Amino acid sequence: MDRNKGVCIRRSLGYQGAMSDPDVVIVGGGFVGCAAAAALADGRRRILVLEARAGADPRFRGELIHPHGVAVLQGLGLHAPLARAGGIDVRGFAVVPGEDAEPVLLPYDDVAGRPRRGLSMDHHAMVASLRAEVSARPGVELRSGARVTGVVREGERVVGIETADGERIRADLTIVAEGRHSKLRGLLGIAQEVRLLSFTAALLLDDVDVPHARHGHVFLGAPGPVLAYSIGEGRVRMCVDIPASAEKGRDAILALLRTAYAPFVPEPLRAAMLRAARADSLEVCANHAIHTRRCALPGVALVGDSGGCCHPLTATGLTTGLNDVRVLAEELGFGATGAPGESWATVDAALLRYQRRRYRFVRAREILADALYEVFRGAGTGPLAVRNGIIRYWQGSSRARMASMALLSGQESRLSAFLAEYARVVGRSAYSVINGDGEEPSMSARAASLSGLLRLSYEKFERSLVTVYQDAVG
Ligand SMILES: Cc1cc2nc3c(=O)[nH]c(=O)nc-3n(C[C@H](O)[C@H](O)[C@H](O)COP(=O)(O)OP(=O)(O)OC[C@H]3O[C@@H](n4cnc5c(N)ncnc54)[C@H](O)[C@@H]3O)c2cc1C
Repeated sequence: MDRNKGVCIRRSLGYQGAMSDPDVVIVGGGFVGCAAAAALADGRRRILVLEARAGADPRFRGELIHPHGVAVLQGLGLHAPLARAGGIDVRGFAVVPGEDAEPVLLPYDDVAGRPRRGLSMDHHAMVASLRAEVSARPGVELRSGARVTGVVREGERVVGIETADGERIRADLTIVAEGRHSKLRGLLGIAQEVRLLSFTAALLLDDVDVPHARHGHVFLGAPGPVLAYSIGEGRVRMCVDIPASAEKGRDAILALLRTAYAPFVPEPLRAAMLRAARADSLEVCANHAIHTRRCALPGVALVGDSGGCCHPLTATGLTTGLNDVRVLAEELGFGATGAPGESWATVDAALLRYQRRRYRFVRAREILADALYEVFRGAGTGPLAVRNGIIRYWQGSSRARMASMALLSGQESRLSAFLAEYARVVGRSAYSVINGDGEEPSMSARAASLSGLLRLSYEKFERSLVTVYQDAVG
């Protein structure tokens, strides 16, 4: 077999080598690494998942999965184990535009009114359940406490990895699922743009439920949006967005929660929020936007947060990671749907197709997350005018609510669809500002709102066009 000419990869059927020399090595046994193992396992290929930590990753991570991600979980046979481990249905979102305001309900249901369901559960229980499930699948081995520190190359191609213990493991395909601060991304020479956006103060609230059962809630009006969703009977997770400029000490954050955020959270959630903060269930994590323009090179693919991430407000990371592994498996022809790849050249061509399809899905989500965060934070006249406009837009039409939810949930991933919706919202906002329907009584305040709104929309359209152009020229 001449590996450098990419003639014939090892046939896994009947391959008798040790598992230290698998067909596919996956770096990272978090949510997306496990899902990738499930997507590529076909009972014949040997898949080795290397997880750096000996136990659970203690950091707070995502817990809410949109229906598009749930469909992938169902296809991989992972939804039932997650439901057994405590996962619950999510029916949509409730956005509460301000203190004591009526919520706008945004169901996930499709145009014909057919129910579509998301899923939420404690992140640690989610990953533990996936690890147990994929470890039991034929051909999959999950090794804990194995940190990957480098890649092995032959010429331009990645042909395996090296661990912190100095072990070299060769594989036909390496999948990087290390999460947002991926070290291999840098070692592979993949350029990245990293922006610190804000911080999340995550709280676990006990003995309480959200006002609209089985809905993710977004409370607006504070210095950052507050996301709350149920993760089980009487347990609510609250993610409070704190500006990057705010003081980070525990006492400072507690004071901020009490004075600047609690007034926008209705009772009895408010009391439970303050109780949880006092009881020290508070965890603070940084929110980054990480933008890449490559997620595949010969012999290697990046999936999940290793390929980039955006603000968690739109609860997008897990769904995007699931979409990644679905697209990758489809392109590789692994699993039940197609013939196995036959040569390195075939695999590498599939990886390039994966890269194209991944970015087509991801770009609209990145721009949506960015735009929605800016608007929901409402810092400045332009974002505030759009925020008021988007609430009126949703209140005025079920088509608008459905179109927004199709984008949010990943059912609709075309950038053109996002831009069309954005233009409608801006048009609606501008109409309200000009007619004085908003909160700006004076002409000068309305002029400031209008100019802020136009500047913001110009920036969004410009950024979208630059992104499309950069992806097109590679
Ligand atoms: C505050 C916050 C809230 C969020 N909320 C949501 C939400 O509600 N919904 C949603 O969809 N997304 C949400 N996200 C995003 C979501 O958490 C991520 O998209 C998701 O965790 C990505 O999964 P991953 O497997 O790619 O990475 P990770 O979850 O980071 O897992 C990476 C794994 O790789 C391991 N690892 C790292 N380096 C190595 C190495 N060198 N060798 C071996 N193993 C290694 C780590 O130990 C870890 O187990 C949120 C994110 C944050 C920060």
